[in-house]
Amino acid sequence: MRVLGIESTAHTFGVGVWDGGPVYNELDMYRPEKGGIVPREAAEHHLAVAEGLLGPALEEAPDLIAYSACPGIGPCLRVGRDIAARLARELGVPLVPVNHAVAHLEIGLATTPARDPVFVYISGGNTQIIVRGWRILGETLDIALGNALDKLARELGLPHPGGPKLEKLARGGRFLPLPYVVKGMDLSYSGLFTRAKQLLESHSARDIAYSYQEHAFAMLVEVAERAMAHTGKEEVLLIGGVAQNRRLKEMFEIMCAERGARAYAVPPEFAGDNGAMIAYSGLLAYERGLSVAPERAEYFQRARVDSWEDLFRS
Ligand code: AMP
Ligand code: MG
Repeated sequence: MRVLGIESTAHTFGVGVWDGGPVYNELDMYRPEKGGIVPREAAEHHLAVAEGLLGPALEEAPDLIAYSACPGIGPCLRVGRDIAARLARELGVPLVPVNHAVAHLEIGLATTPARDPVFVYISGGNTQIIVRGWRILGETLDIALGNALDKLARELGLPHPGGPKLEKLARGGRFLPLPYVVKGMDLSYSGLFTRAKQLLESHSARDIAYSYQEHAFAMLVEVAERAMAHTGKEEVLLIGGVAQNRRLKEMFEIMCAERGARAYAVPPEFAGDNGAMIAYSGLLAYERGLSVAPERAEYFQRARVDSWEDLFRS
Protein backbone atom coordinates (compact mmCIF):
# COMPACT_ATOMS: atom_id res chain seq x y z
CA MET A 1 0.00 0.00 0.00
CA ARG A 2 1.26 3.42 -1.01
CA VAL A 3 0.60 6.05 1.66
CA LEU A 4 1.06 9.79 1.31
CA GLY A 5 1.65 11.61 4.61
CA ILE A 6 1.39 15.34 5.29
CA GLU A 7 3.13 16.95 8.27
CA SER A 8 2.15 20.50 9.27
CA THR A 9 1.95 20.72 13.07
CA ALA A 10 4.46 23.53 13.63
CA HIS A 11 7.43 25.00 11.73
CA THR A 12 7.79 22.21 9.17
CA PHE A 13 5.65 21.38 6.16
CA GLY A 14 6.61 17.89 5.07
CA VAL A 15 5.39 15.40 2.50
CA GLY A 16 6.34 11.75 2.68
CA VAL A 17 5.43 8.58 0.83
CA TRP A 18 5.63 5.17 2.50
CA ASP A 19 5.44 2.13 0.24
CA GLY A 20 6.86 -0.81 2.16
CA GLY A 21 9.45 1.73 3.33
CA PRO A 22 10.17 5.42 2.88
CA VAL A 23 10.27 6.28 -0.84
CA TYR A 24 9.86 10.07 -0.62
CA ASN A 25 10.48 12.50 2.24
CA GLU A 26 10.79 16.20 1.48
CA LEU A 27 10.18 19.21 3.69
CA ASP A 28 10.46 22.95 3.97
CA MET A 29 10.84 24.75 7.29
CA TYR A 30 9.39 28.11 8.27
CA ARG A 31 12.13 30.19 9.88
CA PRO A 32 10.93 33.21 11.88
CA GLU A 33 13.09 36.31 11.39
CA LYS A 34 13.37 36.69 15.15
CA GLY A 35 11.67 35.12 18.15
CA GLY A 36 9.40 32.09 18.05
CA ILE A 37 6.79 30.83 15.62
CA VAL A 38 4.09 33.30 14.51
CA PRO A 39 1.18 30.91 13.78
CA ARG A 40 -0.32 32.85 10.87
CA GLU A 41 3.09 33.28 9.19
CA ALA A 42 3.87 29.58 9.61
CA ALA A 43 0.51 28.62 8.07
CA GLU A 44 1.11 30.97 5.12
CA HIS A 45 4.53 29.41 4.64
CA HIS A 46 3.01 25.93 4.57
CA LEU A 47 0.43 26.95 1.97
CA ALA A 48 3.10 28.54 -0.20
CA VAL A 49 5.39 25.48 -0.30
CA ALA A 50 2.72 22.74 -0.38
CA GLU A 51 2.27 22.40 -4.11
CA GLY A 52 5.98 22.13 -4.88
CA LEU A 53 6.50 19.39 -2.30
CA LEU A 54 3.35 17.46 -3.22
CA GLY A 55 4.04 17.40 -6.98
CA PRO A 56 6.65 14.60 -7.11
CA ALA A 57 4.81 12.64 -4.37
CA LEU A 58 1.63 12.55 -6.47
CA GLU A 59 3.26 11.31 -9.68
CA GLU A 60 2.19 7.83 -8.65
CA ALA A 61 -1.29 7.88 -7.07
CA PRO A 62 -1.39 6.99 -3.35
CA ASP A 63 -3.87 4.45 -1.91
CA LEU A 64 -4.21 6.34 1.37
CA ILE A 65 -3.74 9.89 2.66
CA ALA A 66 -2.53 10.53 6.21
CA TYR A 67 -2.29 13.92 7.94
CA SER A 68 -0.86 15.12 11.23
CA ALA A 69 -4.11 15.87 13.07
CA CYS A 70 -2.83 16.55 16.60
CA PRO A 71 -1.22 18.05 18.65
CA GLY A 72 0.05 21.28 17.14
CA ILE A 73 -0.59 24.91 16.24
CA GLY A 74 -4.16 25.49 15.01
CA PRO A 75 -3.56 27.44 11.78
CA CYS A 76 -0.71 25.07 10.80
CA LEU A 77 -2.79 21.95 11.46
CA ARG A 78 -5.63 23.42 9.42
CA VAL A 79 -3.46 23.83 6.30
CA GLY A 80 -2.40 20.17 6.38
CA ARG A 81 -5.92 18.96 7.13
CA ASP A 82 -7.43 21.00 4.27
CA ILE A 83 -4.92 19.70 1.72
CA ALA A 84 -5.21 16.10 2.92
CA ALA A 85 -9.02 16.17 2.86
CA ARG A 86 -9.06 17.67 -0.64
CA LEU A 87 -6.63 15.04 -1.96
CA ALA A 88 -8.58 12.18 -0.36
CA ARG A 89 -11.79 13.48 -1.95
CA GLU A 90 -10.24 14.01 -5.38
CA LEU A 91 -8.48 10.64 -5.45
CA GLY A 92 -11.32 8.76 -3.73
CA VAL A 93 -8.99 7.14 -1.17
CA PRO A 94 -9.30 6.80 2.65
CA LEU A 95 -8.13 9.61 4.91
CA VAL A 96 -6.39 8.84 8.22
CA PRO A 97 -5.63 11.24 11.10
CA VAL A 98 -2.27 10.79 12.82
CA ASN A 99 -1.00 11.81 16.25
CA HIS A 100 2.28 13.59 15.51
CA ALA A 101 3.99 12.37 18.70
CA VAL A 102 2.93 8.77 18.07
CA ALA A 103 4.37 9.11 14.56
CA HIS A 104 7.74 10.06 16.08
CA LEU A 105 7.55 6.94 18.31
CA GLU A 106 6.55 4.58 15.50
CA ILE A 107 9.12 5.80 12.97
CA GLY A 108 11.75 5.24 15.67
CA LEU A 109 10.75 1.59 15.95
CA ALA A 110 10.57 1.21 12.15
CA THR A 111 14.04 2.60 11.46
CA THR A 112 16.16 1.20 14.35
CA PRO A 113 16.70 -2.27 15.86
CA ALA A 114 14.93 -1.13 19.09
CA ARG A 115 11.92 -3.35 19.97
CA ASP A 116 10.71 -2.34 23.42
CA PRO A 117 12.74 0.68 24.47
CA VAL A 118 12.30 3.52 26.88
CA PHE A 119 11.55 6.30 24.34
CA VAL A 120 13.13 9.69 24.95
CA TYR A 121 11.04 12.10 22.88
CA ILE A 122 12.92 15.36 22.54
CA SER A 123 11.81 17.99 20.05
CA GLY A 124 11.12 21.70 19.76
CA GLY A 125 7.85 21.40 21.66
CA ASN A 126 8.10 18.13 23.62
CA THR A 127 10.23 16.39 26.19
CA GLN A 128 8.78 13.10 27.41
CA ILE A 129 9.88 9.68 28.62
CA ILE A 130 7.47 7.13 27.13
CA VAL A 131 7.08 3.35 26.98
CA ARG A 132 5.01 1.19 24.69
CA GLY A 133 1.34 1.18 25.40
CA TRP A 134 1.74 4.40 25.18
CA ARG A 135 2.47 5.45 28.75
CA ILE A 136 4.18 8.72 29.66
CA LEU A 137 6.52 8.07 32.60
CA GLY A 138 8.05 11.53 32.89
CA GLU A 139 8.16 14.89 31.15
CA THR A 140 9.27 18.48 31.33
CA LEU A 141 7.36 20.65 33.78
CA ASP A 142 7.91 23.76 31.70
CA ILE A 143 9.77 24.24 28.39
CA ALA A 144 10.86 21.46 26.04
CA LEU A 145 14.53 20.60 25.56
CA GLY A 146 14.60 21.77 21.92
CA ASN A 147 12.96 25.02 22.93
CA ALA A 148 15.48 25.47 25.77
CA LEU A 149 18.36 25.03 23.29
CA ASP A 150 16.73 27.37 20.75
CA LYS A 151 16.11 30.05 23.42
CA LEU A 152 19.73 30.13 24.53
CA ALA A 153 20.88 30.14 20.91
CA ARG A 154 18.64 33.14 20.27
CA GLU A 155 20.27 35.00 23.19
CA LEU A 156 23.61 34.30 21.51
CA GLY A 157 22.36 35.70 18.20
CA LEU A 158 22.32 32.32 16.45
CA PRO A 159 19.56 31.83 13.85
CA HIS A 160 16.68 29.38 14.29
CA PRO A 161 16.81 26.41 14.72
CA GLY A 162 19.54 27.03 17.26
CA GLY A 163 20.10 23.49 18.59
CA PRO A 164 22.62 22.40 15.92
CA LYS A 165 24.51 25.73 16.11
CA LEU A 166 24.70 25.55 19.89
CA GLU A 167 26.08 22.01 19.57
CA LYS A 168 28.95 23.27 17.39
CA LEU A 169 29.65 26.27 19.62
CA ALA A 170 29.78 24.07 22.75
CA ARG A 171 32.78 22.04 21.57
CA GLY A 172 35.80 22.61 23.76
CA GLY A 173 33.89 24.62 26.38
CA ARG A 174 34.60 24.49 30.12
CA PHE A 175 32.20 23.27 32.79
CA LEU A 176 30.34 25.82 34.91
CA PRO A 177 27.81 24.70 37.53
CA LEU A 178 24.22 25.62 36.54
CA PRO A 179 20.76 24.72 37.94
CA TYR A 180 20.01 21.00 37.64
CA VAL A 181 16.30 20.34 38.26
CA VAL A 182 14.92 16.80 38.37
CA LYS A 183 11.72 16.13 40.36
CA GLY A 184 10.99 12.42 40.53
CA MET A 185 10.50 11.41 36.89
CA ASP A 186 9.98 14.98 35.69
CA LEU A 187 12.46 17.70 34.85
CA SER A 188 12.51 21.45 34.38
CA TYR A 189 14.57 23.63 32.03
CA SER A 190 13.37 27.18 32.66
CA GLY A 191 15.64 27.81 35.69
CA LEU A 192 18.62 26.56 33.71
CA PHE A 193 17.83 28.99 30.91
CA THR A 194 17.37 31.98 33.24
CA ARG A 195 20.69 31.35 35.01
CA ALA A 196 22.61 30.75 31.78
CA LYS A 197 21.25 34.00 30.36
CA GLN A 198 22.47 35.88 33.46
CA LEU A 199 25.94 34.34 33.20
CA LEU A 200 26.35 35.44 29.57
CA GLU A 201 27.40 38.85 30.93
CA SER A 202 30.47 37.43 32.63
CA HIS A 203 31.37 34.18 30.82
CA SER A 204 32.21 33.10 27.29
CA ALA A 205 29.46 31.91 24.98
CA ARG A 206 31.38 28.67 24.46
CA ASP A 207 31.57 27.82 28.17
CA ILE A 208 27.89 28.64 28.66
CA ALA A 209 26.83 26.59 25.62
CA TYR A 210 28.90 23.61 26.77
CA SER A 211 27.69 23.74 30.38
CA TYR A 212 24.08 24.27 29.30
CA GLN A 213 24.14 21.12 27.16
CA GLU A 214 25.88 19.08 29.85
CA HIS A 215 23.24 19.98 32.46
CA ALA A 216 20.21 19.70 30.20
CA PHE A 217 21.31 16.34 28.80
CA ALA A 218 22.41 14.86 32.14
CA MET A 219 18.96 15.55 33.59
CA LEU A 220 17.41 13.63 30.72
CA VAL A 221 19.85 10.72 31.07
CA GLU A 222 19.02 10.52 34.79
CA VAL A 223 15.24 10.19 34.32
CA ALA A 224 15.62 7.83 31.35
CA GLU A 225 17.91 5.58 33.38
CA ARG A 226 15.43 5.57 36.27
CA ALA A 227 12.68 4.60 33.80
CA MET A 228 14.85 1.71 32.56
CA ALA A 229 15.54 0.55 36.11
CA HIS A 230 11.84 0.66 37.08
CA THR A 231 10.52 -1.06 33.94
CA GLY A 232 13.39 -3.50 33.41
CA LYS A 233 13.78 -2.36 29.80
CA GLU A 234 17.20 -2.78 28.20
CA GLU A 235 16.97 -0.34 25.32
CA VAL A 236 16.63 3.40 25.04
CA LEU A 237 15.53 5.14 21.84
CA LEU A 238 16.06 8.85 21.17
CA ILE A 239 13.42 10.40 18.87
CA GLY A 240 12.55 13.96 17.78
CA GLY A 241 14.76 16.70 16.37
CA VAL A 242 17.16 16.91 19.33
CA ALA A 243 17.98 13.19 18.82
CA GLN A 244 20.46 14.41 16.17
CA ASN A 245 22.76 15.86 18.84
CA ARG A 246 26.01 13.85 18.98
CA ARG A 247 26.94 14.74 22.54
CA LEU A 248 23.50 13.68 23.74
CA LYS A 249 23.81 10.33 21.93
CA GLU A 250 27.24 9.84 23.46
CA MET A 251 25.94 10.45 26.99
CA PHE A 252 23.15 7.91 26.46
CA GLU A 253 25.66 5.40 25.06
CA ILE A 254 27.81 5.76 28.17
CA MET A 255 24.82 5.29 30.50
CA CYS A 256 23.64 2.23 28.57
CA ALA A 257 27.12 0.66 28.38
CA GLU A 258 27.40 0.96 32.16
CA ARG A 259 24.20 -1.01 32.68
CA GLY A 260 24.59 -3.51 29.83
CA ALA A 261 21.81 -1.88 27.81
CA ARG A 262 21.63 -0.52 24.25
CA ALA A 263 21.14 3.08 23.08
CA TYR A 264 19.58 3.90 19.72
CA ALA A 265 18.71 7.14 17.95
CA VAL A 266 16.31 7.54 15.05
CA PRO A 267 18.25 8.30 11.80
CA PRO A 268 18.67 12.08 11.24
CA GLU A 269 16.30 12.22 8.24
CA PHE A 270 13.43 10.95 10.43
CA ALA A 271 14.40 12.80 13.64
CA GLY A 272 12.84 16.22 13.04
CA ASP A 273 9.29 16.67 11.82
CA ASN A 274 8.80 14.92 8.48
CA GLY A 275 6.10 13.54 6.20
CA ALA A 276 7.38 9.96 5.98
CA MET A 277 6.67 9.35 9.66
CA ILE A 278 3.10 10.61 9.18
CA ALA A 279 2.64 8.27 6.19
CA TYR A 280 3.95 5.25 8.14
CA SER A 281 1.95 6.04 11.30
CA GLY A 282 -1.13 6.59 9.11
CA LEU A 283 -0.68 3.12 7.63
CA LEU A 284 -0.57 1.56 11.12
CA ALA A 285 -3.64 3.55 12.24
CA TYR A 286 -5.53 2.50 9.11
CA GLU A 287 -4.65 -1.13 9.82
CA ARG A 288 -6.17 -0.61 13.30
CA GLY A 289 -9.37 0.53 11.59
CA LEU A 290 -9.01 4.29 11.91
CA SER A 291 -10.16 6.63 9.13
CA VAL A 292 -12.33 9.74 8.82
CA ALA A 293 -14.63 11.17 6.13
CA PRO A 294 -12.93 14.12 4.34
CA GLU A 295 -15.77 16.52 5.24
CA ARG A 296 -15.51 15.50 8.91
CA ALA A 297 -11.72 15.43 9.21
CA GLU A 298 -10.89 17.25 12.43
CA TYR A 299 -7.68 18.44 14.07
CA PHE A 300 -6.89 19.10 17.72
CA GLN A 301 -4.30 21.49 19.11
CA ARG A 302 -3.97 19.38 22.25
CA ALA A 303 -3.73 15.60 22.50
CA ARG A 304 -1.57 13.19 24.48
CA VAL A 305 -0.13 9.94 23.11
CA ASP A 306 -2.47 7.89 25.31
CA SER A 307 -6.18 7.64 24.28
CA TRP A 308 -5.92 10.14 21.40
CA GLU A 309 -7.76 7.86 18.94
CA ASP A 310 -11.00 8.38 20.87
CA LEU A 311 -11.00 11.96 19.56
CA PHE A 312 -11.52 10.63 16.04
CA ARG A 313 -13.63 7.52 16.63
CA SER A 314 -16.89 9.15 17.79
P1 AMP B 1 11.31 18.82 15.84
O1 AMP B 1 10.44 19.71 16.71
O2 AMP B 1 11.20 17.38 16.17
O3 AMP B 1 11.18 19.11 14.37
O4 AMP B 1 12.83 19.21 16.20
C1 AMP B 1 13.30 20.53 16.12
C2 AMP B 1 14.19 20.81 17.31
O5 AMP B 1 15.37 19.99 17.25
C3 AMP B 1 14.67 22.25 17.38
O6 AMP B 1 14.50 22.71 18.70
C4 AMP B 1 16.15 22.14 17.01
O7 AMP B 1 16.95 23.15 17.59
C5 AMP B 1 16.51 20.78 17.56
N1 AMP B 1 17.71 20.21 16.97
C6 AMP B 1 17.92 19.84 15.69
N2 AMP B 1 19.18 19.38 15.52
C7 AMP B 1 19.79 19.43 16.75
C8 AMP B 1 21.09 19.14 17.25
N3 AMP B 1 22.04 18.64 16.46
N4 AMP B 1 21.33 19.36 18.56
C9 AMP B 1 20.38 19.84 19.37
N5 AMP B 1 19.15 20.16 18.96
C10 AMP B 1 18.85 19.97 17.66
MG1 MG C 1 7.88 16.88 16.22
